[in-house]
Amino acid sequence: MRPFEYARPSDLAQALAAAGPDTVFIAGGTTVVDLMRLDVLAPRRLVGLGDVAELRRTELDGDPVRLGAGVTMAEAAALPLVRERYPALAAAIDLAASAQIRNVATLGGNLLQKTRCPYFRDASSPCGRRRPGDACSALTGHLEQRAVLGASPHCVAPYPGDMAVALVALEASVEAATAAKVVTVQVADLFREPGDAPHKETVLGDGDIITAVLLPAPRGTSAFVKLRDRASFAFAAASAAVSLELDHDRVVAARIALGGVATRPWRSSEAESAVSGERLTPERAFAAGEAAFEAVARTHENRRGIALGARAVTAALLACRGG
Ligand SMILES: Cc1cc2nc3c(=O)[nH]c(=O)nc-3n(C[C@H](O)[C@H](O)[C@H](O)COP(=O)(O)OP(=O)(O)OC[C@H]3O[C@@H](n4cnc5c(N)ncnc54)[C@H](O)[C@@H]3O)c2cc1C
Ligand code: SF4
Repeated sequence: MRPFEYARPSDLAQALAAAGPDTVFIAGGTTVVDLMRLDVLAPRRLVGLGDVAELRRTELDGDPVRLGAGVTMAEAAALPLVRERYPALAAAIDLAASAQIRNVATLGGNLLQKTRCPYFRDASSPCGRRRPGDACSALTGHLEQRAVLGASPHCVAPYPGDMAVALVALEASVEAATAAKVVTVQVADLFREPGDAPHKETVLGDGDIITAVLLPAPRGTSAFVKLRDRASFAFAAASAAVSLELDHDRVVAARIALGGVATRPWRSSEAESAVSGERLTPERAFAAGEAAFEAVARTHENRRGIALGARAVTAALLACRGG
């Protein structure tokens, strides 16, 4: 551990002013402290967001519903409104990490968590996501879970989070404060594909602060399915979130997002087209899962990700119609 300064601003303006070179914001700290221990992050200054009252501002009776970015995952999932009206979001949070982590981890921090790629987490390995310009060690090394969708020759690591996948299917946005203004960004547009600059993970600028998650009024029902190697405390091998409008058993509109298999939370227009206007039968749900990967050339390495991703979409669609 290297020495660092710690600032704890009490409002948003001070927090924005405290940003600067070699400065890292810390909320619940469950990603940041982990990476500092590994020497992957070595900031000169940490800026704690825990006292910034604006980040706790939550408005449940508005449209959109506003959840402060500093609200913990446990607090958000416990809200009756979230459980009743946004079941995909409640499930995505319930199935993430552990109860202890959810008690301190925040919505903003969860969205901006870092990749679990072992080369990123090993400060001695080249990694273009950690150090701009570095080669990607995973291309020649071993990475058990590679992104099937959105990968580039510069980074093949999947986005690890669950909540963002549900938020994409719910067409949610984040509100962020920059030094000059407040902006609203659809969660579907928040994350960048790695391209040739994997270190640029989102469209936000350095020093911008996510202030809230904004949930539009739900249309229809929603579900989130997570497939993983063990039943708890594991990242997704594949996940899918679906928000579905049904007229009896016919799909009026579908919004489908995938996790665990793509470099960013991935909305699948192909899967949505495969079910829109159709009766939601198990066969149709299966076809939608397959459609999500129809443009991907099958290789030995991506077979597992494709199979699990397709199954997650199928299961999430069927969960929306009650099994
Ligand atoms: C063992 C383990 C298992 C896990 N399993 C899962 C899982 O299954 N699913 C899952 O989704 N996650 C999982 N996680 C990740 C965990 O959910 C995240 O570490 C946590 O949500 C991050 O939230 P935090 O508030 O602690 O963020 P921090 O660690 O404080 O910050 C994370 C990042 O976000 C930035 N940041 C935080 N808040 C803001 C803000 N308001 N504006 C701008 N930047 C901000 C920080 O600078 C940092 O870059 C796991 C973590 C661990 C350690
Ligand atoms: S896959 Fe991405 S995160 Fe992993 S080593 Fe390559 S550039 Fe780094």
